[in-house]
Formats: sequence, structure tokens, C-alpha cells
Amino acid sequence: MTEVDHPERLAEALCRLLPQTQCRQCGFDGCSQYARAIAEGRANINRCAPGGRAGVLKLAQLTGREALDIDPEYGRELPFAVARIDAARCIGCRLCDAACPVGAVSGVPKHLFAVIESSCTGCGLCVCACPVNAVDMVETGRSWTDEDAQRARAAYERNRTRRHERALRRRRALEQSTARKSDILKQALLMAQSLKKQ
Ligand code: SF4
Ligand code: SF4
Repeated sequence: MTEVDHPERLAEALCRLLPQTQCRQCGFDGCSQYARAIAEGRANINRCAPGGRAGVLKLAQLTGREALDIDPEYGRELPFAVARIDAARCIGCRLCDAACPVGAVSGVPKHLFAVIESSCTGCGLCVCACPVNAVDMVETGRSWTDEDAQRARAAYERNRTRRHERALRRRRALEQSTARKSDILKQALLMAQSLKKQ
């Protein structure tokens, strides 16, 4: 059995061919979800604009499907650009940081945020998230490489794990606080009942 015959292995092989910018332009929640959809026959191979024509050719070779042009409904191939935050316009709301799939934004809430250019995949999600239009995309003059894609995939996985752990910690803290409040309420009720009996 080859990797193409097994949906899980095919999805992983397809994912390795995608650019890992995690931009969601394909309509899926990141490159791995798009790869899974292709492997399961739920999506065509021409929805990844950042991967461009070269990407479609690789996907076509692996799947044996027709190498269609990029579907314009999912964007078009553009030169690689990274996000830059204008310090004069930034209000420190942190929404760009929350939107970034690879943890490429850092800063101080209520003050200023900035993009770590070497970590930016150019996905543009922070541009849409910024309520004061403080983020611009700036062309770099270079191309997105396979090494960039590998680094971006690792950063995406790390970011996802970090966010998952943070959400778990918050949920635990909320459960503990709810349990504490419920104990206090029970004690208050017991006290009120014993005062009533006196
Ligand atoms: S780079 Fe964007 S469009 Fe291409 S597969 Fe990944 S999330 Fe989808
Ligand atoms: S900084 Fe903006 S453009 Fe760059 S990876 Fe993060 S969300 Fe995408």
C-alpha cells in the first residue's frame, strides 16, 4: 500500500507540500485541514493561492488529479509580503496577537505591538483583525521557501499547544473559583438555617 492509498498518510504527504502560511484562504482552518479535505475528496487541489501554480502542480503529481489553475474564489498568487505594525497607530489592543497563527506578534497590552518579521508567514490575518488599520503588508522581495514552510509549521504547532494549555489553565481556574463560591454559599445557607432555629 502506498501513502496515496491511505487517507491519513496521504493527508500528511499533501500537508508537507502546502506552504504552511496558515492563512485560511482555502476556506479551511489551516493547511493540515485543507490537506485532509483533499485526501478525503472533499476539496479540489487548486484552492491554495499562497502555494501558487507550483503548489498545484505538486499536489496534482501526488494525487494524480488534474492541475487546474488557482480558483480565483480563494485568492490569487501574490509576491511574498510580511506584516508591519505602525507604532503611531497601534492602540495595544492585542487583537493582532490573538489572530496570529504562528505567534509572530509580540508586545505590551495597552501600549504597543510589533511583528517579528522573521517569523511572519504573511498570512494577513492580523490585518483583518486590527480595528484601527495599523497593520500593513510589505513586500519583502524574496520568495517563501520550503525551509520557511517547515519553520512555520513547527511554530504553528507550538502556538496551538500554547493556546490549548492556556485555555485549559483558564478553565481550571474558573472551575476552582466556581467551586469556592459554591462552598461559601453553602456555608452561608447553613449558617442562616442554624440562626433561624435559635
Ligand atoms: S497556505 Fe493558506 S490557502 Fe494554502 S493550504 Fe494553508 S491555509 Fe490553505
Ligand atoms: S504577523 Fe500577521 S501576517 Fe504575519 S503571520 Fe502573524 S497574523 Fe499572519
